[in-house]
Amino acid sequence: TQELHIVGGGMAGSEAAWQAANAGVHVVLHEMRPKVETFAHQSGNFAEMVCSNSFRSDDDQQNAVGQLHWEMSAAGGLIMEMARQHRLPAGGALAVDRDAFSQAVTDRLRAHENISFVEEEVTSLPSSGNWIFATGPLTSPALGAAIGAASGQDRLAFFDAIAPIVYAESIDMSVAWRQSRYDKGETEEERTAYINCPMTHDQYEAFIDALMAAEKTEFHEGEAGSGDKPTPYFDGCLPIEVMAERGRETLRFGPMKPVGLTNDHDPQNKPYAVVQLRRDNALGTLYNIVGFQTKMKYGAQASVFRMIPGLQDAKFARLGGIHRNTFINSPTLLDAQMRLKSHPHLRFAGQITGVEGYVESTAMGLLAGRMAAAELQGRALPPPGPDTAMGALVTHITGGAEAKTFQPMNVNFGLFPPIDAKGGRRGRKDRYKAYTDRAKETFNQWLERQT
Ligand code: FAD
Repeated sequence: TQELHIVGGGMAGSEAAWQAANAGVHVVLHEMRPKVETFAHQSGNFAEMVCSNSFRSDDDQQNAVGQLHWEMSAAGGLIMEMARQHRLPAGGALAVDRDAFSQAVTDRLRAHENISFVEEEVTSLPSSGNWIFATGPLTSPALGAAIGAASGQDRLAFFDAIAPIVYAESIDMSVAWRQSRYDKGETEEERTAYINCPMTHDQYEAFIDALMAAEKTEFHEGEAGSGDKPTPYFDGCLPIEVMAERGRETLRFGPMKPVGLTNDHDPQNKPYAVVQLRRDNALGTLYNIVGFQTKMKYGAQASVFRMIPGLQDAKFARLGGIHRNTFINSPTLLDAQMRLKSHPHLRFAGQITGVEGYVESTAMGLLAGRMAAAELQGRALPPPGPDTAMGALVTHITGGAEAKTFQPMNVNFGLFPPIDAKGGRRGRKDRYKAYTDRAKETFNQWLERQT
């Protein structure tokens, strides 16, 4: 029988190992801890939660993360089962006793007859065999270099610089307008690719004040590097508050420059500054605020960004941030089976594929484990439909996302194909329920086809 090698016993690697082993494949799980440590992990256990002890919302009717929980449970997911066994009271969230949880995952994997273990740091990409790389945001530097060499350095990032992402439907288009700077573009779609939010002089000054006063987060110890590279900022990726600190006008000559744009709502008055949002997915349901990567705390971000005219009621699919995070440019590098197009015997899973969070990483591990097992057994396993939470996420990273601005993504309803509004506009609750009902039906069909 052929073996499947999995590198990294984190959230994704643990789930991938479980799924493939249960499918009858022999798995060799390579994990470098505790021999080699990361700055965030504390133990040698599998599936360690490095920060929060929460898997976020467990509501599978109204929340996309909750729907992802449901799908993983339906697929016999180990991480979800152990999380529920070690659940702590936390309202609607699935919070767990982290040590008991990762110990339980470790025990179950170690007891599995189809899994063997190698305690080692993998430092190169193997030229043969079947492999899943699930080495996470803190992939060891040697392996990161090897992945960079195989993928092209510009397709591997070591930090994410995330600009906030807004749901298109929450932008007030009676204030904002669609236009590309200097009406650039071959097609009407390109000429209207951006959404613009105008600011008066007073609004700009108030915004700068709020930006400077807002609470910021610090880098974790060991996260930002040291020596001659203490801060990981590189050109084009400075946090907006750092730009603002360099001078009150800096943003007005940078991402907020008001040139090449005409506000049709008020053509007489030229805006003093303009905030631009760029389409973030093929569906056009999500927009990112251009150049607005930030280290402001989450609470502060929502209130500061809602000062932008047109975004006063903005709903955020994700807030901005800058973190240590190794991830590849999946939209250009991976095929729909999560294999490296240039080296199809290598799959990627977990956060390194450009998803964000424990739950999303686990889901991409579950899928990669099943896909790899199917391939070894000569079965074809297409990904679940894009109207499931798992399918929406994998479709986003392997093709739906803009490759040029690709940044890690949380699961959210903006990634789902929009649902027909039967009988006019539905309320939000009805719509979310319709999304999750549809997802469950499609996911069950996907599972049934595998039995
Ligand atoms: P991991 O869980 O990190 O697992 C990767 C594994 O690969 C590790 O065990 C590592 O030791 C191993 N490994 C790395 N390189 C090698 C190698 N060369 N050879 C062998 N093994 C290797 N997500 C949340 O949902 N909530 C949070 O609060 C949160 N906080 C975070 C805080 C920090 C500081 C960081 C860095 C990340 C945080 N995340 C958080 C993201 C979270 O870490 C990931 O979403 C999740 O753990 C990713 O799962 P993964 O399996 O892809 O990677």
